[in-house]
Amino acid sequence: MSQWQPDSWRKLPILQQPTYEDQQHLSEVETRLAKYPPLVFAAETRELFRQLGDVANGEGFLLQGGDCAESFDEFNAPKIRDTFKVILQMAIVLTFAGRCPVTKVARMAGQYAKPRSGDMETIDGLSLPSYRGDIINSFEFTEAARKPNPERMVEAYHRAAATLNLLRAFAQGGLADLHQVNRWNMAFLENNPLKERYQDMAQRIQDTLSFMEVIGINAKNHRELHETSLFTSHEALLLNYEQALTRNDTLTGKWYNCSAHMLWIGERTRQLDHAHMEFFRGIHNPIGVKIGPGMGEDELIRLIDALNPHNEAGRLTLITRMGANNLADKLPALLRRVQREGRKVVWSSDPMHGNTVKASSGYKTRNFDDILKEIQHFFQAHRAEGTHAGGIHLEMTGQHVTECIGGAYGIGEADLGQCYQTQCDPRLNADQVLELAFLVADYLKA
Ligand code: PEP
Ligand code: MN
Repeated sequence: MSQWQPDSWRKLPILQQPTYEDQQHLSEVETRLAKYPPLVFAAETRELFRQLGDVANGEGFLLQGGDCAESFDEFNAPKIRDTFKVILQMAIVLTFAGRCPVTKVARMAGQYAKPRSGDMETIDGLSLPSYRGDIINSFEFTEAARKPNPERMVEAYHRAAATLNLLRAFAQGGLADLHQVNRWNMAFLENNPLKERYQDMAQRIQDTLSFMEVIGINAKNHRELHETSLFTSHEALLLNYEQALTRNDTLTGKWYNCSAHMLWIGERTRQLDHAHMEFFRGIHNPIGVKIGPGMGEDELIRLIDALNPHNEAGRLTLITRMGANNLADKLPALLRRVQREGRKVVWSSDPMHGNTVKASSGYKTRNFDDILKEIQHFFQAHRAEGTHAGGIHLEMTGQHVTECIGGAYGIGEADLGQCYQTQCDPRLNADQVLELAFLVADYLKA
């Protein structure tokens, strides 16, 4: 294999990339970005690596979630705060009810590039380049808006930096105080059909906190009661941007992609001899790969060995997204093979991307029951094979959107239009996601 360099991916075939008209402008932007400060620090990335190593060894759970695609228009503090809150609430439910330490990774502060099924989109006879995420072009269906513009990479960088800044402030500035988070649970209960069950848990958390307080364990002497850590992640699809943020760590001499703590390769760009695999093999972050129902056992072992040649626990997370009706058929053989060959990975379930359907009203949606079924089969398969169900990967938001049908509030197809805001895939809303957390906690504990 030839020597890895931050730009060695450029010699290989690559899918899902925009065509920039002005190459000189593109390379000028890349040079500019490469001089900007990194967004995350390599030592933080190593801490996530360590935590995921525990998960790979069966001790802990990875909770990863956020928007399908972050948008430049919906860039504001309440939105960031609400998603942060709901991730934290979920983590508390999973930690307390599931009796399991939870590593929180937001799909935020960089989730701006989207893979598309077609290069062009046609509406009323007019064909324009597909929307590929705000880091590339704009959602609006006009020729000017759909033209890829490299300056958007700089804009994405600044938005990611501001998002990360706020997330760090929330995590360490008191918003993550356990007493407070438990109070949000109480507020959420008010109109919820599963109220009694939730109230019981919130009360038990309250009692535990009071007990700890009495014996002298409080936020003043135990930082973890007052603060939290939240890592960031996104699909590293646009390699021009990712390369510009890839830096050599002065402490270790290793290369880290400093655009986020964790990056993943999408289902559409994980070909073994293509550019994304090449780029990812040289960065030392913990990384993920999406695994669809078509993945073969031999191919999976080759992929694991290319990305994690030293078999380090925490380096590689396999994010399965097979669909509620495929997973029970496809996953067990992969679990068995990886286990038999002694490869150390985190197995995480993305129950979203294999379960997207079109509602009769035309909206792209997902059914809460399918999402739950895929998670349920994921846990069952791991139990049967003696492997660890290590995490979940969700598309979700703290806002009260109506994009996925089902859940305790019974959102129906006819309700989708009420608050359908996603620019891309349908997300679970705050209620649905918390409901899911309680159900997953039961599987974790079992
Ligand atoms: C995504 O996570 O938004 C996505 C496109 O997933 P996948 O690569 O699994 O299709
Ligand atoms: Mn998506």
